[in-house]
Amino acid sequence: MQHERLLKVLVIGDLGVGKTSIIKRYVHQVFSQHYRATIGVDFALKVLQWDHRTVVRLQLWDIAGQERYGNMTRVYYREAVGALVVFDMTRLSTFQAVLKWKGDLDSKVALSNGTPVPAVLLGNKCDQRSLCPKLPKLENFSREYGFIGWYETSAKDNTNIDAAITCLVKSIMTVE
Ligand code: GDP
Ligand code: MG
Repeated sequence: MQHERLLKVLVIGDLGVGKTSIIKRYVHQVFSQHYRATIGVDFALKVLQWDHRTVVRLQLWDIAGQERYGNMTRVYYREAVGALVVFDMTRLSTFQAVLKWKGDLDSKVALSNGTPVPAVLLGNKCDQRSLCPKLPKLENFSREYGFIGWYETSAKDNTNIDAAITCLVKSIMTVE
């Protein structure tokens, strides 16, 4: 017997950090310099054969247009079981916004037992390392603020996108 699990995962972070690019890379294996800023909420689906008896239907929820407010409505967060919190490694302000996003997430959704939903921190655009300002050590930062893991990613070069999402799904599949 195959079991099916539907997982709603949010992809949050400031405008232009690469949320849409990460989703397109992961789901469609493509990258483009020009994604229209989709207005509203959009999601993409990836079906994973998780193990021999479990199929995971992974819904990745993108946001667009609302990032500038730094928070989302409860409707967007409802029934989410995990999140990717993304910043742009070349823009310090987007890193500074990470805690605001994590705080918004934790204030609006939790697992049924009351604990925060697992969140992974993604420092995207790591292909542009020469442009990156000095950042705190992500290892310490992510532990201190309750992320289950962190990755330096590039949607452009396809670096660590799979690894980051797999880490999140693994965690979701073990807590539930
Ligand atoms: P969003 O607003 O968070 O959805 O960001 P987008 O996915 O629209 O990306 C914003 C811009 O950054 C676009 O021009 C992308 O092509 C570019 N971008 C996204 N990811 C990367 C990456 O990993 N490396 C580089 N160099 N550019 C990226
Ligand atoms: Mg976008």
